[in-house]
Amino acid sequence: MNNQTFSKKHLTKKTDDISEWYNDVVLRAGLVEYSDVKGCLIIKPNGYALWESVQKELDLWFKADGVKNVYFPLFIPMSLLQKEADHLEGFSPELAVVEYAGGEKLHEPLAIRPTSETIMYKTFADWVQSHRDLPLKVNQWCNVVRWEKRTYPFLRTSEFLWQEGHTVHKNAEEADAMAQKALGWYQKFYEEFFAMSPYVGIKSETEKFAGAKRTYSVELVMPDGKALQAATSHDLGDNFAKVFGIEYLDENNQKQLGYQTSWGFSTRSIGGLVLTHGDDAGLILPPKVAPTQVVIVVIGNKQDAENPVEPFADEIAEELRAQDLRVIVDVNYNNSLGRRINNWELEGVPLRLEIGAKEMEQNQVTSVRRDTFEKQSIDRANITATVISQLDTIQTDLLEKSKKLKTDKTKNVNSFEEFKQAMDSDKSFIRMYWCESLECEKTIKDATKATPRVLELENMAEQADEKCLKCGNPAQRQWLFAQSY
Ligand SMILES: [Zn+2]
Repeated sequence: MNNQTFSKKHLTKKTDDISEWYNDVVLRAGLVEYSDVKGCLIIKPNGYALWESVQKELDLWFKADGVKNVYFPLFIPMSLLQKEADHLEGFSPELAVVEYAGGEKLHEPLAIRPTSETIMYKTFADWVQSHRDLPLKVNQWCNVVRWEKRTYPFLRTSEFLWQEGHTVHKNAEEADAMAQKALGWYQKFYEEFFAMSPYVGIKSETEKFAGAKRTYSVELVMPDGKALQAATSHDLGDNFAKVFGIEYLDENNQKQLGYQTSWGFSTRSIGGLVLTHGDDAGLILPPKVAPTQVVIVVIGNKQDAENPVEPFADEIAEELRAQDLRVIVDVNYNNSLGRRINNWELEGVPLRLEIGAKEMEQNQVTSVRRDTFEKQSIDRANITATVISQLDTIQTDLLEKSKKLKTDKTKNVNSFEEFKQAMDSDKSFIRMYWCESLECEKTIKDATKATPRVLELENMAEQADEKCLKCGNPAQRQWLFAQSY
């Protein structure tokens, strides 16, 4: 599809074709444009502002926990990447490699980082000498490249933005606790800021991070019943420490291996946000992360030399900004009122205030909620208090809606036949007892395209005397299966 011109006058309906709707929305709402390189997006101001809201909040939480920001190079010598065999194997198919630079063939090809474990951990081996150097906790905000054959804005791109946290600890327990803490941050961010209710738990052996001991994951249920892996946190054990020689002298002067974690949250999350909350009119942004929380639409005529409503609107805007609300005043009379309103709805601004001569005369404004289109007249004196409370309500209601979607789209089934039917028709998450064997996992995937998405934290310790829904072998724990993005 062309970026700047649209052949269709209206958005595709979300319920008609969610994938086409999604493409329409991310382009028309000014989040992204396609670039000349397939899978590499131009993130526009409306999209980047959402990423900044992620950065602002997570960065605060990381720093409060003693995590320090660093920056490591974009290029990784192939020899470094080859050091950890599983890690290399996992990333090989998606690697982009530079062989020429400065007009000549390089002695050693350089991989463009798909993630930074290898380049960081070589250095950590120097940084970590004594137990006094631990825990070591760093994070970097950067781009990574994983070459994708099929791409989809935000959800699957060859270059994306993320943060990657990396830590070293004295023992296995501390490392696992750190991995779970990072998982908790991601869950909290999704719930409290993106107003989305995820499943959190661990990945199967096949789905875990290449080189990790255990991968914790945040999985989101999308409106079409598919799963979106929305953030991951890895307990790396001493696996990388052995390979890169990350050792320290303990209190008794004995050499010990470091235990590590890595965890990441990416621009993929923005795709999840759009898919979850949007509707046929476009984006719906939760107030806490919306770049603009309130738009004041001044009703006027371009023939008017001066619109007496404008000072009234400006005064209200100032009053709201004094409460740290992000507000803009729209006086673009060149466009029809209908078009202006459609545009604010498309961009997902949570609350709209409409003010015309009539409203001003009555010392009132009309508020319209983006999520429900509910209208309300508000007296001038009550505007600030009402706006704050409406924004709170929108934030809460969006989370409730997401919880309901998660429940509605999660099913229990009694047989594998039912499982297959569920995947063929109206897709959903399936909760079922599974034997956890690789072979069984493959059979299920081949038959249904579904994979084990996550074993929820609260089910990790389960020791049931059940049978695997697919193969009938003993199964102790209930997993969530789904098709994934
Ligand atoms: Zn089985």
